[in-house]
Amino acid sequence: MNYKEMIEKSPLLQDLAAAKEVCWLNPKKIPFAEAKDKLVFGPADIAEASARLQRFAPLLAKIFPETAEQGGIIESPLTEIPAMKALLKEKYGADLGSARLFLKRDSDLAVAGSVKARGGFHDVLKHTEDLALEAGIFTSREDDPMKLLSPEAIAFFKQHKVQVASTGNLGVSIGMMSAHLGYQAIVHMSADAKQWKKDYLRAHGVTVIEYDGDYGKAITEGRAISDADPSSYFVDDENSKELFMGYAVAAERLQKQLADEGVTVDEAHPLFVTIPCGVGGAPGGVAFGLKQIYGDNVHVLFAEPVQACCMVLGMATGLHNAICVQDIGLSGKTHADGLAVGRASSLVGKLMEPLLTGEVTLEDYKIYDYMRDLRDTEGLFIEPSSCAGFEGPVQFAKNEAFAPYIEKYGLSEALQNSSHIVWATGGKLVPEDVRQAFYGTYL
Ligand SMILES: *Cc1c(COP(=O)(O)O)cnc(C)c1O
Repeated sequence: MNYKEMIEKSPLLQDLAAAKEVCWLNPKKIPFAEAKDKLVFGPADIAEASARLQRFAPLLAKIFPETAEQGGIIESPLTEIPAMKALLKEKYGADLGSARLFLKRDSDLAVAGSVKARGGFHDVLKHTEDLALEAGIFTSREDDPMKLLSPEAIAFFKQHKVQVASTGNLGVSIGMMSAHLGYQAIVHMSADAKQWKKDYLRAHGVTVIEYDGDYGKAITEGRAISDADPSSYFVDDENSKELFMGYAVAAERLQKQLADEGVTVDEAHPLFVTIPCGVGGAPGGVAFGLKQIYGDNVHVLFAEPVQACCMVLGMATGLHNAICVQDIGLSGKTHADGLAVGRASSLVGKLMEPLLTGEVTLEDYKIYDYMRDLRDTEGLFIEPSSCAGFEGPVQFAKNEAFAPYIEKYGLSEALQNSSHIVWATGGKLVPEDVRQAFYGTYL
């Protein structure tokens, strides 16, 4: 592929290659009624994942006592953040008018402390169910998950490995769940992963293998090591349906929370959701779930760092995982460790083609600014990667690039009755000294 020529022909690619911030509108988005029959997955897949999480909830309540109060259902609060909304207007000139602004706090999800709890736990539980069936520990998929706590079951799972490659948070999610189910858990960490995440996993009996390369290297090597071992299962962040469906379950849970907040979502009351994007699994799964429920009345944006904008690059070129950010001269390096991915998932990019509204990319300094803004206005901490989501409502409110979209979908009047959700993807487990260091970081 002659990337130079490709870049010369496209103003968007010129901006991406120059690490400029962009607002990209997805030209392939189509009405949901047309899109839904073309998708390789549907509502039944989400329902299956949801039922599985429900079935395993009593087991989770037992092995993770912090989840007992919620009956082992791992869910996060939805919090309205009016003071942050006021600040976005004052400080950044992003006037959301009478729209409401919410934070979906997956940053506080139990055990994993990030959005990865959704997909990661589901993937490990599905695999566990498969193995338990094969071994005769379960007689059916609906069998009692408490059987997994028997000494025989524990001895059985000790002979099996679960492996994953991660920039940090996926490793924490998969590592914690699989170690607590008795597996030998092995996490292949890319160079971007924070030290405290490695320490945390090792303290919980997880083997951490470190790579000096980026996420692409960790996943290629981790997958090869796991595939060569018949007793090992690899959670494949680039291709896993089970991860994706675990993320998608978020939507039905959110639906109840929005109703509790008195938020209507319909043509006259559109919902805008911005989700930070790495390889695409988490934001893609959430977006997929939201679309199944709200169809054309939900508008989903992804946010990526300018140096690691793999999803917008893959979607805009149509090359998906056949192109990486290094191909257009970017480094893939970013302070947003959870988003430090140079090549998007092939599964997700294609699924998002008919669904996604678009993307915003942002410079790294902004994530620390938004993080301090959120602390100062709402007293909430979320990790820097998570803060990329604020760029969605900010650009939507003030950037002319969205005008054609508002016009095309006839949204201008409805905007006053709209709601924005910034999806906070991680933070709870970040140690206090690391938080203080983040707060003191100015780029
Ligand atoms: C992993 C992660 C994301 C993005 O998820 P992907 O599946 O990689 O796109 C966003 N924010 C945080 C904090 C993450 O850890």
